Amino acid sequence: MNTMPPPGRNTFLSLLVLLTGLLTACCNKKNDSPPPVSQDYLSEVTVPNDHFRWTPRRGATSVVVPVEIDDVNVPPEWNSSMLALVEQARDAWKPAIREARAFDTSTRRLGNQSPFAADYTKLSIVFTSRLGGSRVGQVEYRRSGATFVTGMTMTIAMRSPLDGRLLTNAELLAVLLHEFGHAYGLFNFGSGDSHSSSPADVMYHASTATNLSARDNATIRKHYGLTPTAVRADSLAAAGSLMLDTLAVAATH
Ligand SMILES: [Zn+2]
Repeated sequence: MNTMPPPGRNTFLSLLVLLTGLLTACCNKKNDSPPPVSQDYLSEVTVPNDHFRWTPRRGATSVVVPVEIDDVNVPPEWNSSMLALVEQARDAWKPAIREARAFDTSTRRLGNQSPFAADYTKLSIVFTSRLGGSRVGQVEYRRSGATFVTGMTMTIAMRSPLDGRLLTNAELLAVLLHEFGHAYGLFNFGSGDSHSSSPADVMYHASTATNLSARDNATIRKHYGLTPTAVRADSLAAAGSLMLDTLAVAATH
């Protein structure tokens, strides 16, 4: 007795199984949560081999970023609570960076301390009532040629660009966290964006996050953990001279 099914039926069953499998795969995929985002977004915000990060001054082993806050030439909206916000944002990035490199900041206020020496590559922070366009914060890098960053200025607006209202301290903290990310090196020197595509990250272009995400921390940790040869732009202090033929690159919030 022949127990084999007719060839035609066998083919039909195989097709049915295949179709069922496809439907299952389809529906499973449809019901899944969105695909997981990557662990970090470094490739989104920097150009390979043209990264900036702070490096030790010549003869030193650890990185110390000179942060100079202008608390003298301030807009009428300014008050001293801004200093604590700056410190909070400045420090939020440090633990992750320190997992990769010895890292700290040295902060001075123009009002009660003498400024850093002129040959320091420093981060200057200034406040203003409003910035142009829809910006509430920006970091301007000054570069000398292609190799060195000679300094940078972070500008923080105290009022909303939309309706002129005073920004809350939580909003200002979100802006400061974002701009410190740029200042610590999450900055695209190419034609691409300097921002994360995920709204949960403080480096999102319109972030309101007041805490660093796991991806923010992973990104800055990876950035400072790269081998030195992967980084072209570097602190001027390592070269020991100050060049004034600067090229300004502005990142807008
Ligand atoms: Zn930005």
